[in-house]
Amino acid sequence: MFPEIKITKTTTPKQKPVAGQPLPFGRNFSDHMFVMDYVRGEGWINPRIVPYAPFEIDPAAMVFHYGQAVFEGMKAYKCEDGTINLFRPSCNFERMNNSNDRLVIPEVDVDFCVHATKMLVDIDKDWIPSGKGESLYIRPFVIATDPFLGVRASDTYKFFILLSPSGAYYAHGIKPVKIYVEDTYVRAVRGGTGFTKCAGNYACSLIAQTIAHDKGYEQVLWLDGVEQKYIEEVGAMNIMFVIDGKLVTPSIAAGSILPGITRRSCIEIAKSMGMEVEERKISIEEVIEAGKSGRMQECFGCGTAAVVSPVGELKYEDTVITINNGEIGPITQKFYDTITGIQSGKVEDTYNWVVKV
Ligand SMILES: *Cc1c(COP(=O)(O)O)cnc(C)c1O
Repeated sequence: MFPEIKITKTTTPKQKPVAGQPLPFGRNFSDHMFVMDYVRGEGWINPRIVPYAPFEIDPAAMVFHYGQAVFEGMKAYKCEDGTINLFRPSCNFERMNNSNDRLVIPEVDVDFCVHATKMLVDIDKDWIPSGKGESLYIRPFVIATDPFLGVRASDTYKFFILLSPSGAYYAHGIKPVKIYVEDTYVRAVRGGTGFTKCAGNYACSLIAQTIAHDKGYEQVLWLDGVEQKYIEEVGAMNIMFVIDGKLVTPSIAAGSILPGITRRSCIEIAKSMGMEVEERKISIEEVIEAGKSGRMQECFGCGTAAVVSPVGELKYEDTVITINNGEIGPITQKFYDTITGIQSGKVEDTYNWVVKV
């Protein structure tokens, strides 16, 4: 049995996005949010669903000073029969606990958080857009709230779940991206926080993103933090290559790469298709060489937002390579069709990934 979630419904529902209009990512929020508090000695208490609204917080709250903040990202999808799908939501809360452990934030109860997510999504189900590729983005996060300026782990926290209707990532068809290989800054190191979705990881990567944009590239590909030689991942996506017909992706064993749920899903689909999968170190030289010699057939990023994002062009120092003539390849397309098909209820979920709301 789960603790009771107290529900306070809004008396002033907001205008929902109009069907057919563009829905920019992360700007619109539904009518309600889920909140619970943590107090050391008492655990996670007072779970509640309340009207979405700003809240008061002490300016000395530790999250503002020492950055104890972690988040997750997943989506709810409306199926043609009107039912609502979540995609592997337990994986998100398990990963949140890995982030929490690393930042000395208390763990949450995975099953209870999935239950709370379902309840919140159900209350705001009319906020799930139902156009092609549209979904309801779900943002759970935790912040440290002790009003204290000493450096230590906070004794109090707040956990939230926000819902944000979001448009199709590919409103105009799947378009390959141009990627800039970052050779100055690094995102993560062995022993660091790369495997967590902690806020600081994103703050420290903004500078490279800015430089890449200025040079006309959409995303940054990170190299390892020690030798700046091995491929790690893209901004908020893992990266995969099809080389000599095999699926090759960086190993997450060193803890510097975020273990994506989309990454894991692609690997499981590849294996069930009988495709050989290699999770290993892969150097930027190997990628450039495989690109030039034609041994690399495909390259794509994968993550919740886009599902897959084919890479059409890769720039490393003075070398620019074009992959698959700047078009999406058949393996990338297969992963996209399988995952989006399962999410939207159009493809049979033989993996048991979907959780119905
Ligand atoms: C969220 C994220 C990913 C992708 O994870 P998914 O679970 O597939 O959405 C990859 N890399 C980074 C840095 C991320 O923040």
